[in-house]
Amino acid sequence: MIALELDLRQGHSHRVGVCLRFTPQQHRLVLALPRWTPGSYLLREYVGHLEGLVVSQHGQPLLPRRTTPFAWQLDLNDLAPVEIRYGIQAAELTVRTAHLTDEHGFLPLAAVVLAVEGERWTPHQLKLVLPGHWQGFVPLPQQADGSWLATDLDQLLDSPVEAGPHPIHAFSVAGVPHQWVTWGGDLPGQDSQWLADVEAVCLACCRVLAEPQPAASHYLFVLHLTEQGYGGLEHDASTVLQFGRRTLRRPEGRRKLLQLVAHEYLHQWNVRRLRPAELVPIDYGNAVVVPTLWFAEGVTSYLDQLLPHAAGCCSAEQVIADLGDDLSRYRLSQGRQVQSLLSSSEEAWVKLYRPHPHAATQQISYYLKGAVLALVLDLHLRRHGSWIGAVLQSLWRSHGRCRRGYTQADLLAVFAALAPDLETLLPHWLSSTEDPPLETLLADVGLQLTPTTAKGPHLGCQFEVRAGGGLWISRCERNGPAQRCGLQVGDECIALDGERIRTLEELQLLLGGTLPGQRLASGQSLPQHDVLISRDGRLRQFTVQPGEPVVERWSLDTCPQTTAPAMARRQAWLALEPPCV
Ligand SMILES: [Zn+2]
Repeated sequence: MIALELDLRQGHSHRVGVCLRFTPQQHRLVLALPRWTPGSYLLREYVGHLEGLVVSQHGQPLLPRRTTPFAWQLDLNDLAPVEIRYGIQAAELTVRTAHLTDEHGFLPLAAVVLAVEGERWTPHQLKLVLPGHWQGFVPLPQQADGSWLATDLDQLLDSPVEAGPHPIHAFSVAGVPHQWVTWGGDLPGQDSQWLADVEAVCLACCRVLAEPQPAASHYLFVLHLTEQGYGGLEHDASTVLQFGRRTLRRPEGRRKLLQLVAHEYLHQWNVRRLRPAELVPIDYGNAVVVPTLWFAEGVTSYLDQLLPHAAGCCSAEQVIADLGDDLSRYRLSQGRQVQSLLSSSEEAWVKLYRPHPHAATQQISYYLKGAVLALVLDLHLRRHGSWIGAVLQSLWRSHGRCRRGYTQADLLAVFAALAPDLETLLPHWLSSTEDPPLETLLADVGLQLTPTTAKGPHLGCQFEVRAGGGLWISRCERNGPAQRCGLQVGDECIALDGERIRTLEELQLLLGGTLPGQRLASGQSLPQHDVLISRDGRLRQFTVQPGEPVVERWSLDTCPQTTAPAMARRQAWLALEPPCV
């Protein structure tokens, strides 16, 4: 047994006191802090927040040798009990970083707990030392003395700790006990229908897997309501969600939060228990390439749009509008012509979690394109009398239930068993940058993508308006008019055709004013403009040749003559029901 004690009484200094006590089994003691937390594929180097490490035995401090930036080693003279103490600076509020203030504490334990080599499968006992009026919320079985018990290190690291004076709300899903805790406001307290809707969404997730109950024997929802945050992280028996209070006040806010709930709850199967082979077991010290992230995140992202409707919490029109927004973002992304979905999955560690101004032109998110491909696959499978739920159910039976990791080949085999032509189509869709065939499949359910063309000429860049006035180029389309004439990200636009510009409206007025109002005759080009910019403190002038207006958005609309069979297919599809054969 390893006894872990976390002291959360220093909220004013954001310092978590950590103490580990155990009796070593071997003379060589090796300690390492995880470098990432499962579900978020970036080496976060949590060790940067660790301070004051003291290892002692017989009440005497020992001197461990640092072997890597995140690991220590020490040779013990005997196997008497060892005590390890250190502090963790907890001042970053995301769903995968530690945050301790005088209001609450949140600890994803991969960011906090040193792993002792050789003790991975040893039970870990967790005790919290809290300010008097606080309560701890941990998705682990609680002991009579108030501590929590994890069967091994993996279960401990998969159990986020939330603590504070928050109200707790209990409900059940198919007889399984669930709890909901919010920090930053009390969502269930402000919305009496909230827990009923969450329960309905959870039941809809079970139906997709054809399971009578959730996979976990108990489940904890932790919600951090912040000014305008967004995020979620999945665990076996819990999830941590971050959501914006301002977004929640918007008409679509509640639906978006239910989609986030659906997403993380579905991960209970897809990616947690039904897991890519590369994550069995998890290597906390290295980045491991996972080629199937498109399935783990893409399929989950696609289904999270449909689940609130399948649970009876929103209308079919709202789902179609949400799907249309995603398809529009996908169609307008230049990065999809550069990076394949397979590469996006394989390069997660070095690209998706490292946003920069050029990212949109260089990469496509495996969440976004994965969801688009999941839609294509679902509609394609429906032509063959099957659906995406059947894929999850089959994989759950063959791999998830027995915790056997799946490979890309396993995925392809399941898809091909349900629709033989996917044996060649799916590998092509994964490895190429071509768009999968959306239009014909959407027509099966009486839907079509409709473009909206921008009103003004096309510059091929986006601007950021900074406080106090001033226009900066924040994104530049690859080979777009702006980039071709020499403009680049970071340029401050000072003037257009000799006139000072400070706002987007002023820019659009000057650009739009030169448009004849109608389409130009072929061969005729739009007027050129002189742009004065400041780059690295020096003024420069460029001549930009705008292009004709381009599509600025796509929407998903009903086809004019939708047949009754197409409407019936649409209903079954949106309700996450198998097709009627
Ligand atoms: Zn996810």
